[in-house]
Amino acid sequence: SFVLMLSSSLCNNVFAQGKKGDPIEQRVNDLMSKMTLQEKIGQLNQFTSDRTSTGPISANSNKLKDIEAGKVGSMLNVRGSKDTRMVQEAAMRSRLKIPLLFGLDVIHGYRVTFPIPLAEAASWDLDAIEFASRVAGREAAAAGIHWTFAPMVDISRDARWGRVMEGAGEDTYLGSMIAKARVRGFQGKGLGELDAVMACVKHFAAYGAAVAGRDYNTVDMSERHLWEVYLPPFKAALDAGAATFMNSFNDLNGIPATANTYLQRDILKGKWGFKGFVVSDWGSVREMVPHGFAKDNEEAAKYAIKGGSDMDMESYAYVNFLEKLVKNKEVSEDLINDAVRRILTKKFEMGLFDDPYRFSDEKREKKELNSAANKKVALEVAQKSIVLLKNQNQVLPLSKDVKSIALVGPLAKSAEDMKGFWSVVWDNDHLVSLHEGLETKQGKKTQINYAKGCNINDDDKSGFADAVEVARKSDVVVVAVGEAFDMSGEAKSRANIHLPGVQEELIKELKKSGKPVVVLIMAGRPLIFNWTADNADAIMYTWWLGSEAGHAMANVLFGDYNPSGKLPMTFPRSEGQLPIYYNYNNTGRPVINENNIHYRSAYIDSPNSPKYAFGYGLSYTNFAYSNLTLSSKSLNQDGSITVKFTLKNDGKYAGEEVVQLYLRDKVASLVRPVKELKDFTKILLKPGESKEVTFVINKEKLSFYNKNLDWVAEPGDFDLMIGTSSDNIKLKDTFQLLD
Ligand code: BGC
Repeated sequence: SFVLMLSSSLCNNVFAQGKKGDPIEQRVNDLMSKMTLQEKIGQLNQFTSDRTSTGPISANSNKLKDIEAGKVGSMLNVRGSKDTRMVQEAAMRSRLKIPLLFGLDVIHGYRVTFPIPLAEAASWDLDAIEFASRVAGREAAAAGIHWTFAPMVDISRDARWGRVMEGAGEDTYLGSMIAKARVRGFQGKGLGELDAVMACVKHFAAYGAAVAGRDYNTVDMSERHLWEVYLPPFKAALDAGAATFMNSFNDLNGIPATANTYLQRDILKGKWGFKGFVVSDWGSVREMVPHGFAKDNEEAAKYAIKGGSDMDMESYAYVNFLEKLVKNKEVSEDLINDAVRRILTKKFEMGLFDDPYRFSDEKREKKELNSAANKKVALEVAQKSIVLLKNQNQVLPLSKDVKSIALVGPLAKSAEDMKGFWSVVWDNDHLVSLHEGLETKQGKKTQINYAKGCNINDDDKSGFADAVEVARKSDVVVVAVGEAFDMSGEAKSRANIHLPGVQEELIKELKKSGKPVVVLIMAGRPLIFNWTADNADAIMYTWWLGSEAGHAMANVLFGDYNPSGKLPMTFPRSEGQLPIYYNYNNTGRPVINENNIHYRSAYIDSPNSPKYAFGYGLSYTNFAYSNLTLSSKSLNQDGSITVKFTLKNDGKYAGEEVVQLYLRDKVASLVRPVKELKDFTKILLKPGESKEVTFVINKEKLSFYNKNLDWVAEPGDFDLMIGTSSDNIKLKDTFQLLD
């Protein structure tokens, strides 16, 4: 009867999800006991927004209907309090009223745009990075977003790979520390807080090791190498509480990550005890067909769910085939239940069952987005991300009394490119170009003579003459060159990573003016610019710095901020050196002297050494390292050594130094790297000030995966190196690990 129908549906609606305050496990179980198989599978299904001008869902798609039918568990790319509310309302019309999760790639900011992640990594400032993620998470949460697809923690040693812009660079230790900082930032005080978004650690795993730096390409590596170099940042992110993981497009040793039982079930959910859920990468379930791993989408769905992928992003494979697979007993319902349980648990933890609209609050959105406080955070981290590569004769900082500046280059007036790849802003209004930053700082005091000179990436030199002309009539030349915002990023691998187009030729022409030439390089990856490196007077690597780019660059140019960034990736001399990284193993024929490479592991047409080493970066001041002491020259397996030294600012400017501790296991059961970063800290010192710096060395810092994949520290001698970069070691000693 009608009455009965009504009461049973009421019953479902009111009691399906239990009461606020009941243990989440119980609420999940209650809810699941009421779900049909089809509804369960719906939870594993994620669709994208259609992002049309009229709204998040296009009028001729079935997505709203699918949501009402309980066939969708999550949407990506729906955002803003209004749109998320509208789409959530559809979910509230479904039988069990299970709220949707809204996910978005909040990679480096939501409204206020922060520097690209690789740039932030160059700050080596974990507090600043955490805070930037905090603000990004807060803004996103205020705009209806529950879940960011970040951080990307893929290690990469190959600058041809366009996605290096999105990670923390080449080093496992630095990458692990940054992974933790980002997760803490996004998730704040924890899921359930109104300003916390779930983090999604990606791409599990080894995506950054794509052969030849070509995006999505195959990855083939030893298990030992995987454990030692590529997995630790994921584990670090998990230890910091990361709620979700995303898998990757690549195959690893022949098995696509999406169906990789070893990665997702044995390691992540098994050994590591991960309780959250794994989302596939976009379409990565169905991509197992062109991979040649599954014969059709049905088989792909089967392999993915068995392989531990809980949610299907945009493949339509789970929603179309899982029910049939379960009915045919090819997939057990337990696997579905496990995935559903993981997803529902997060929805409960986010408080969405108690109020599905709690993140969709227009008032909060208005107040939070692009606030002055948020912009200030973006400015601070942008300043810290800039790396000073060269400063001949102290051309920098510029004097505030400088009469005229020739501002040249295709990126000098570009605001748009400052946002970098993976920005989710929908307009460029709030992005500050270098030109605007200089004008704001100097006002009428300094004449700015602008000439574009050339485009970013073509061979047109017709603008050179004007550029040289403005250089001649100015006191100093500031050149802004690099990549357009879409030249590094997903699917932006490049075989040629030289400064694009005729930009370096432009710099050569400008240099002929006889005026000091200061070059700012804005890019999403390490570029090659050997002539500029050898001939420009000063070089700042500014990456893509986000909303406040122009102000940050102007502050550094004029010395209102003393640059403190250090390279998180090695800069090669040529593409032929790639992959290149500082923590290589010595061969039996190492190069001792680059002028005498006979029968050495060397190139006959290039040095082995990079143009700029990992950890390199200058300051306007000078730091002196002295008085290294070790509390002991040996330690036991359960002991430690306290390392102390004095760092002094003996220059004229206050400044921050990133001091870096490297270790080398001299002889071991496996060949070990020539050095490995094991600790670092960033220290602010006033002119003349000194501080004692302390590091502690224990077994953990001496350990590695041996040939049985055991994490061990082997007794013997170790080199200790403290440096201002990986290739500029200031203090050295040795110590011994005892039996
Ligand atoms: C990327 C992911 C991203 C997803 C959703 C994919 O193409 O590889 O990193 O989160 O798209 O936008």
